[in-house]
Amino acid sequence: VTQEKRLETEKEVINNINKILASSLDIRQVISAVHAELKRVFDSERMTISILDEKGEGFRYFAQKKDYESKELRNGVIYPKEGTSFAKALETGRPVIVNDTEKSDSWIDKKLLKEGIRSSLVYPLEYKGKVFGTINFGSKEVNHFSDHHINFLPLIAPSLAISIQNALLFEETINRLNELSVLYEIIKISASSFNLNQMLKDIINSLNHLFKFERIGILLVDEKTKRLIPHPSSYNEISIKEIEKLALSVGRGITGWVAEKGEPLLVNDVFRDSRYICGDESIRSEMCVPLKVGRKVIGVIDAQRNVTNAFTKDDLRLLLIIGGQLATVIDNLRLYEGIRESEEKYRMVVEGAHEGICVIGLDYRLKYANQKMSEIFGYSIEELVGIDFRDLIDEDSRRLIAERTAKRERGERFPPLFELNGIRKGGEVRNIEINAKVLKGTTGGVNFIVFVRDITEKKRMEEQLLQSEKLRALGEMASGVAHDFNNALAAILGNAQLMLITTKDEELKESLRTIEKVAKDAAHTVKRLQEFTRKRTHQELYRLDINQIIRDAIEITKPKWKDEAQAKGVSIEFVSNLEEIPSVGGNASDLREVITNMIFNAIEAMPEGGKIEVRTFHQNQKVYIQLSDTGIGMDEEVKKRIFEPFFTTKPFTNTGLGLSMSYGIIRRFGGEIEVESKVGYGTTFTISLPVQLEGEGKEEESLTFTIQKGKEARILVIDDEEEVRNTLSKILTKVNHQVMVAKDGEEGIRLFKENKFDIVLTDLGMPGISGWEVCRAIKNLSPHTPVGMITGWGIQLSQEEIEENHLDFLIPKPFDFRQILKLVSETMVSKGTQFLA
Ligand code: ADP
Ligand code: MG
Repeated sequence: VTQEKRLETEKEVINNINKILASSLDIRQVISAVHAELKRVFDSERMTISILDEKGEGFRYFAQKKDYESKELRNGVIYPKEGTSFAKALETGRPVIVNDTEKSDSWIDKKLLKEGIRSSLVYPLEYKGKVFGTINFGSKEVNHFSDHHINFLPLIAPSLAISIQNALLFEETINRLNELSVLYEIIKISASSFNLNQMLKDIINSLNHLFKFERIGILLVDEKTKRLIPHPSSYNEISIKEIEKLALSVGRGITGWVAEKGEPLLVNDVFRDSRYICGDESIRSEMCVPLKVGRKVIGVIDAQRNVTNAFTKDDLRLLLIIGGQLATVIDNLRLYEGIRESEEKYRMVVEGAHEGICVIGLDYRLKYANQKMSEIFGYSIEELVGIDFRDLIDEDSRRLIAERTAKRERGERFPPLFELNGIRKGGEVRNIEINAKVLKGTTGGVNFIVFVRDITEKKRMEEQLLQSEKLRALGEMASGVAHDFNNALAAILGNAQLMLITTKDEELKESLRTIEKVAKDAAHTVKRLQEFTRKRTHQELYRLDINQIIRDAIEITKPKWKDEAQAKGVSIEFVSNLEEIPSVGGNASDLREVITNMIFNAIEAMPEGGKIEVRTFHQNQKVYIQLSDTGIGMDEEVKKRIFEPFFTTKPFTNTGLGLSMSYGIIRRFGGEIEVESKVGYGTTFTISLPVQLEGEGKEEESLTFTIQKGKEARILVIDDEEEVRNTLSKILTKVNHQVMVAKDGEEGIRLFKENKFDIVLTDLGMPGISGWEVCRAIKNLSPHTPVGMITGWGIQLSQEEIEENHLDFLIPKPFDFRQILKLVSETMVSKGTQFLA
């Protein structure tokens, strides 16, 4: 019964096992189910399966996880195969029994012993006549296995072998499928990436997810240092730091070897590989593939596991395929990023350029314009694109462009730099400098890249510099002329006036009056000319109330702009807009003259009437006077020359000295005068003057002489100009004064010592001893003798100088004869009173 029953059970067990084997493709599942069934006839505590790995160096080991402590024994790798019962069974094709693991030398038995296994039975698994693995049983007692076990196993081993083969086949199919999905995933990531960094991060994440290796990383070769730089997403943060510490480089470590050789490498046990540099104690296996572009290695993919023999050839093959794919993508992305970077660089250079830059097609239409271009022309970039370049320049410039085009077509060479007149949106003209280059596109199209510089300011400054240089030269010339002219006029006027007194001939008198008048006018012209040149740097600047001066000037000119205009039937409107402004330093009569002149100019520019507007305002420590008219305006040529003395467009009525004089005066006050004008629209003059600091400058007082009745006097005249002293002498003698003349200061002082004089008249500028020295010498010798200074040169003497030298009065040259006589007699009177008192 027992025998029968046992056979019955055995039959049932075999049946059930066959069912299990037919229904499952999972080796682990097979193990637990089969073992559970088997236990009914076959007493063992452990059942495992080992399968020779592809290299034939070790075994894949399948077990029920819960059974074992050791990692290798929990579904791992048994390596090496040498010294194991599995290997022995495999070689002999026969079962192997170990009766007492404690007495065995085998390394695997020692491991088993640690797990509590005392004896074991290993049975070969054969498929198509070839042993490929073993089925293994373990027991906690020694000498547990016997023939009973060995005899039963042939009943199930063949079908188990087939089932395992199927499972392995299935596993491989699944692996292939996985490989495909891994590749698909990688390709998907790499195809959709435009950013290298992000792509590497995604790929590493995806590899981690797909492979579940303990560590996976991508390291790129740094071309300069030959270091292997792990991508930040590689491994995990902690090991990244360790990796960096290892200073991996081409030729160093396993990754370095791969990077150097350009070949994949699989290391089953890192501690047995001399190339390995230990970064992490827990790592046992490593596999690494190169990332190659052509023959160049740009990096590696590195995978690590905590068990030995963790990677199969298939794993390596898959990683190699991924590496190939990845290398191409990295290379493309780097290229792309390189292009994008340089494109961005160029874009930044172009956009931020200080020059206007535009691209123009053969049809002259703008295809591109940068920000500066938009600033120069006043159009938005959108407005500029599509615009005909010739619409941005004036008539003359268009002609120039046409000429250049013709030249180019004839194959002539010409300089790339040229100037044009640009027209801003709104019509303002700007001087622009053009630098054009032909830009041949890759597709054969021809464009021009045009660099545009607004040189209006630069030109204006250059012109101003030229202008002031020219004016300076003119000024020096004019001052020489004025000096000689003054002396000539002094003689003419003096003699004419002298003759007027002496002659009784009415006809002659009439002519003399004409001479006198013309000479006076000429003297006035000379005075204005001198204003232009005067350099009196030490001249005192008084505190000026500009608004008051302007109001005076408006009053003074009123007859001209109001009455005269009305008489001619035209009307001139005068608007003044005078803001509260601080005072400036200057000279009231000079500034009044400047403003008066500007008003006259404005009136003369508006023969048909119009509007004059004067305004004052104050900005950045400067006071501005702006006078605009709605007159005829001026063109560029006129505008350039208006400050030149004698330049006038009104030659029959005007002298052309107004603005040159104004220029001189304003410069003397430390200010500037500028003009803006448009033909047919009007002109605006702007004068700017520096604000005077608190407490600077004094109120202006004028030198006045009260005119009194005369009496005879002894007079000494000192002047180096013969004409002048003779004329003076003649005039004064004619009215009964006694005159002695001296040709220079030395002679004068000598004569003064030798003779008695009531009055001394001395020239200021003389060779040798100057007028001042003469004055002081005379005052030393005789403090009460009045000294009068004959001042030519248009020089205004400062009150200080006059007081310091005890000068009594001034005789400006060219002199009005009657005024001299008045001065002399007045001086005599006051002196008389002094003496009488
Ligand atoms: P003048 O008035 O004697 O000609 P100015 O030195 O005052 O000399 O002026 C020089 C020239 O500048 C004038 O002849 C005239 O051509 C020009 N000008 C000056 N002011 C104006 C203005 N407000 N409108 C037009 N042109 C002017
Ligand atoms: Mg004038």
